[in-house]
Amino acid sequence: MEEKKPVIQVVYTNKAHCRDCHRCLRVCPVKAIRLRDGQAYVVPERCIACGTCVRECPQGAKQYIRELDKVRGYIDAGDFVAASLAPSFAGLCTPAEQKRIAGALRRLGFRFVAETATGAYRSAVKTAELAAADPSGCHICSSCPTVVSYVEKYQPEKTDLLVKAASPMVAHGRHLKAMLEDRTDATVRVVFIGPCIAKKAEAMRPENADAVDAVLTYEELTEWFDLEDIKLINCEESRFDERPEGEARRYPLLGGSIRASAMDTDILSGSVVSASGFHEVRDIIESAKAGNGVVSEPMFCRQGCVNGPGMPKEGSVYERRQRVLDYAAAEDALGFEAPAKRAGAGDPARFWPGLGAAFTPDPMEVGEEITEEQIQLVFESTGKSLPEDRLDCGACGYDSCRDKAIAVIRGYAEPEMCMPYVKRLAERRTDKILETSPNGIVILDNNLRIISMNPAFRTLFMCTESLCGKHISYLMDPEPFEQVASGIHPQVAMTANHARYGLTCFQIIYALPKDKQYVGIIVDVTKSQANKQKLDQLREKTIDQARQLMEHQIRIAQTMAKLIGESTAQGEALVERLVELAGEGNVDDGGASWLRDMYTTK
Ligand code: SF4
Ligand code: SF4
Repeated sequence: MEEKKPVIQVVYTNKAHCRDCHRCLRVCPVKAIRLRDGQAYVVPERCIACGTCVRECPQGAKQYIRELDKVRGYIDAGDFVAASLAPSFAGLCTPAEQKRIAGALRRLGFRFVAETATGAYRSAVKTAELAAADPSGCHICSSCPTVVSYVEKYQPEKTDLLVKAASPMVAHGRHLKAMLEDRTDATVRVVFIGPCIAKKAEAMRPENADAVDAVLTYEELTEWFDLEDIKLINCEESRFDERPEGEARRYPLLGGSIRASAMDTDILSGSVVSASGFHEVRDIIESAKAGNGVVSEPMFCRQGCVNGPGMPKEGSVYERRQRVLDYAAAEDALGFEAPAKRAGAGDPARFWPGLGAAFTPDPMEVGEEITEEQIQLVFESTGKSLPEDRLDCGACGYDSCRDKAIAVIRGYAEPEMCMPYVKRLAERRTDKILETSPNGIVILDNNLRIISMNPAFRTLFMCTESLCGKHISYLMDPEPFEQVASGIHPQVAMTANHARYGLTCFQIIYALPKDKQYVGIIVDVTKSQANKQKLDQLREKTIDQARQLMEHQIRIAQTMAKLIGESTAQGEALVERLVELAGEGNVDDGGASWLRDMYTTK
C-alpha cells in the first residue's frame, strides 16, 4: 500500500477577517475550501497552494504562511544566507532598479545573491535530456509546483508523465548549498525569493529539505525593504554573484522553459504545447496520453510566473512580461562567462548535485458513495426538482448544479450558495410581505404613474390592477408624491383624509433613487381616529354629569347647613370635603377647583 504523503498547509483562513462572502469557495479551482459554521476553511489535503483565493479574497482573509521572521533569524544567528532571486523579479523593477536589487539584498544581510535563472537553465537542460531519451513519450514539464500538486492529487494517473527534473528553485538551492558549503564553515541557508506561494509548499516537501530553507514572496520582500527603509533606487548598482546561462531569464514567461531547454519552440510543430491558467492546464493534462510524443509546458498562473499570486498587484501582466524580455535581452548582450574558465573554480558539475526529481500520486479520498436520491433531495431543497430548473450557470463556483449538490452532501458547500435559488427566495419573501401586508403599498414610476399596488392598497382605494399605468392623481392627492419627486423632501410622513373613500390615513412617501421610483405606504387610521373622537365625547359627557351631580349635592349640603343653623365656616368646610371627594387634580380641565371657586370664600 502507498504511504500517505505528509499534509503541507501554506494557505489558511484568518477567521477575524473572513466576512462569509464565500468568494474563495467560488474561485478555488479544485474546491479545496469547505464551509463550517458559515466560515470558509482551507482543506489542506485538497489544497494545491495555487494562491487564487489569496489573490481574490476582498477582505484579505485568505493568507499564506510568512517566513520573514525565520529568514531574519538566520541572518541574526550569523548563518551564511544566500538569496536565490526568481527571474520574474525583472518584471517588478524598472531598469534602474534591476541594476540595484542585488545591492539591496546585500544590505538586508544576504551574503550571496544569485538569480534562480542559473538553476532554471540546468533544470531546462535536464528536461530536454529526459525528453530526448524518450522521443515518443508524453512529457509534462514539472517546474510549476502547483501543476505538480494538481497532477498528484487530481489526475494521479498522469503522475508518471511528469518530467523527473528538479525545478529551477530546487536545482539552484542544491547547487548553492553544494558550492557555498565548500567555501564557508558557517551554516549555509538558501532563501528563494519569488512570486509563488506554492514554492513554499514545494520547499517543505521532505525530499527537498536539502535544497531550500525558506521561501519569501515579493510581497514579503517589499515588506522587509519597507521595515529597513531601503529604497531600491537609493542602493548602489551591483552585479549578482553568478550569471545564468542560456535563455533562462525568460523562464517565468509562457513558453520560457521550452525556450530555455533549447527544444523545438514552434508551437505549430505538434511536438510542444504551452498552457497557462487553470482551465488550460486541466485540459492539457487531461489530454496528455502516454506515447503521444508531446512535451507540454503547463504553468498554473495565466501567462506564467510573472502573474504569480505573490506578485504585488500593481501593473499589468504584459508590462511585467515586457520588462522580463527587455532585461533578458540586455543581459544576454553582456555574454556569459562559464565558471569553469575562472581560475580555481574546479569542475562545475560537482556543484550541481541532484537535478532529478520524484513524484508520487496522492489521490483524493473519494468518500462515501452518493446516491441519486440524496442528490435529488438537495435539488428539491433548492427548487431544482425539474431538469429545466438546473441552470448549470456556475455562479456558485461549481461547474454544474449536480457537482454543487454533491458538494453540499459532502459538506463542502451550502444550499444558499446558489444565486438563482437565493434570488428566487428573496423575491418570494418580498412578494409575500407585500401580498400579506395589512397596509396599502403603492409603487410609482418616475412620472408618478402606478407600477404596482398590493391587495391592501387596492381594497383601501377600491380599485383593481387595471389602474396600473395611470397617474396617482387618479386615486389621491398627488402632492406628497410630487414633494418627494421634486427633491424638496426626501420623505413625507403625514395624516391625510381621503374623503372620497371615507378614509383617514397615516402615509409615508419616499423615493428609491436608484430605481427612480416612489413608494407610498398607507396606514388606515380611520377607525382609531373615530374611536378617539368617541372617547373625547364620552369624557366631556362624564365630566358634565359629574359637575351636575356635584352642584346638586352642594346645594343640598348648603340647604341642610342653613336648616340646622351651621355657620358659613362650617358650610365651607363641608364644601371642602366634597371637593376632596371630587378628587381634585384627577380631572383634565383643572380638577374640581371650580367647586371651590363657586361655593366657598377662599
Ligand atoms: S490556495 Fe488554491 S487550491 Fe488552495 S484553497 Fe486557495 S484557491 Fe483553493
Ligand atoms: S505559474 Fe509560476 S508563480 Fe504560478 S504557481 Fe506555477 S510556479 Fe508558481
